[in-house]
Amino acid sequence: MSDTIFTRIIRGEIPSHKVYEDEHVFAFLDIGPLSKGHTLVVPKEPAVQLDQLSDAAAAAVGRVLPRLCRAIMQATHCTAYNILQNNGALAHQAVMHVHFHIIPRFDQTMESGLHLAWKPGKLDPRQGTELAHRIAAALATS
Ligand code: AMP
Repeated sequence: MSDTIFTRIIRGEIPSHKVYEDEHVFAFLDIGPLSKGHTLVVPKEPAVQLDQLSDAAAAAVGRVLPRLCRAIMQATHCTAYNILQNNGALAHQAVMHVHFHIIPRFDQTMESGLHLAWKPGKLDPRQGTELAHRIAAALATS
């Protein structure tokens, strides 16, 4: 994977508003926040998408995420937030280094926070059975 802006932030070559760092994880404020406290949590391992991340790096992110959420809640007084994790340009990923957004939500207005166009379909039971089997089979061999 070639260097991204996040690799350079982790190395300290580009300044950031760092909120947390350990051996595997670096977290800092998003430069274009959707709301106050919008934070990016980045594994130091240079993977592009979540599916390419090692179990060890994923575990390190998972271990610290709830703690970071609690800290952001305490610092911003938000009681609600979204975790967003984009993979692939089609899915709105702009920086090609795995990262998790923590995005506080303060109210129902469109003024700040994450807004989703959520249009649920209906799962066909037969297709659901077949698809669940295919995913489970893929898991068994991965
Ligand atoms: P994504 O669309 O999931 O790839 O999100 C990338 C995020 O990185 C955006 O929310 C940007 O505002 C943020 N970002 C890009 N450059 C920087 C930077 N130098 N410091 C902090 N956040 C950044």
